[in-house]
Amino acid sequence: MPQKFDYICLGAGSGGIASANRAAMHGAKVLLIEARHIGGTCVNVGCVPKKVMWYGAHISEAIHLFAKDYGMDVTLNKFDWNRLASNREAYIERIQGAYANSFTGNKVTFINGFGRFVNDNTIEVNDEQYSANHILIATGGAPIIPDIPGASHGIDSDGFFALRQQPERVAVVGAGYIAVELAGVLHALGSETHLFVRKHAPLRNFDPMLYETLIESMAATGPILHPHSIPKTVEKESDDSLTLHLENGEQYTVDTLIWAIGRTPSTNNIGLENTDVKLDDKGYVIVDEQQNTRAKGIYCVGDCMAGGVELTPVAIKAGRLLSERLFNGQLDAKMDFNLIPTVVFSHPTIGTMGLTEAEARTQYGNDNIKVYTSSFTTMYTAITGHRQPYKMKLVCAGREEKVVGIHGIGHAMDEILQGFAVAIKMGATKADFDAVVAIHPTSAEEFVTMR
Ligand code: NDP
Repeated sequence: MPQKFDYICLGAGSGGIASANRAAMHGAKVLLIEARHIGGTCVNVGCVPKKVMWYGAHISEAIHLFAKDYGMDVTLNKFDWNRLASNREAYIERIQGAYANSFTGNKVTFINGFGRFVNDNTIEVNDEQYSANHILIATGGAPIIPDIPGASHGIDSDGFFALRQQPERVAVVGAGYIAVELAGVLHALGSETHLFVRKHAPLRNFDPMLYETLIESMAATGPILHPHSIPKTVEKESDDSLTLHLENGEQYTVDTLIWAIGRTPSTNNIGLENTDVKLDDKGYVIVDEQQNTRAKGIYCVGDCMAGGVELTPVAIKAGRLLSERLFNGQLDAKMDFNLIPTVVFSHPTIGTMGLTEAEARTQYGNDNIKVYTSSFTTMYTAITGHRQPYKMKLVCAGREEKVVGIHGIGHAMDEILQGFAVAIKMGATKADFDAVVAIHPTSAEEFVTMR
């Protein structure tokens, strides 16, 4: 007989952990299963190690680009990649330990092993079976490698975090968050970095102000951007270097090639064929607005969910709301996928929420949109020889000028957005922004002084 639980969470990443702990806090008997490491993508090969590397890059930029003009005669003797990686991994182990303690504290049973569905309410892991009336799929996703000859010579973002020494010359292929962030970090830490995007720009679905300014910054002090560059083959040379051949006939030889062309849901070998769960054509789990799959008692949150937004805080919120609904009587609890703020840890950082200017014009009509912008040099760099641009935009709709989009690129934009996101989620108008006294001198104050 399978051991009985109230709730089984498959995957101890951001969504699974959040949902398991919240359910247990409400008294549910919870089993949490993880095939690899506690924390999933975010903690182990995503947000957390990336942000540590980004901080390292930030310090390197301060030393190389700005220190001199702040009057500091700094010589960097050595950059020890391995030391940074080791310290990063020690930090991750501490986070994993804190999570493990939270499981103990909340009385969540944790099993390390690969779980598979046997039927709609039974999971098998490490040759044992466990059943529950409620089961969450929170298995996340994994990087995609393209289907071209020699692609396996490259690594993905998981491979980036496994690097024990700094590559001298790197090619990063892709145009999304991961490509932009890894290319920026590698460049700032001193690797000769080439970013290959197959269209005209990275982050091309963002407001053009953002990617145009990013391209400008890359041209000044960033990785070498190669637009309209479609990989054709990868060849391993006798000295172990890699040559990336592009469809336009160009070729580039590097030490390390990183694919960052998107991710795929991890749903193909967890026994879903034994359930009534339905997947879309890309393998994402189809859910309704309350995270219910097509199988009664099976739910899904996070990066493997169809129609979601692949961000850690989204998975966490959806996971917690689901547990509030299942185990705390909040029957109407559901995740609101509208107006989600997001940041790209580029150089400089990007923060964005809501509609791009073009989306707003399409949705509301040209005459109903008013756009406010601000463009200046970030004060942090103003006295240096490497002046960085700051660009901001508010997209406002209707006579009341409700803010429906906020976009910014510049130093510390990553930290600026969250507070404005609260206001926008509450329905703030331009007049509400104007009614606030500016904090001076900051970059953020521009958002409340735009004319
Ligand atoms: P994304 O889906 O964001 O971007 C990948 C991009 O690569 C595509 O949009 C496409 O852009 C390009 N691409 C796709 N296929 C190919 C190909 N065969 N050759 C060359 N380029 C290709 O994926 P990421 O892996 O960057 O990130 C995955 C998700 O993780 C993101 O959506 C994001 O939600 C999340 N994430 C969030 C972070 C944050 O919050 N800061 C950080 C990192 C990840 P195009 O069509 O323009 O060529």
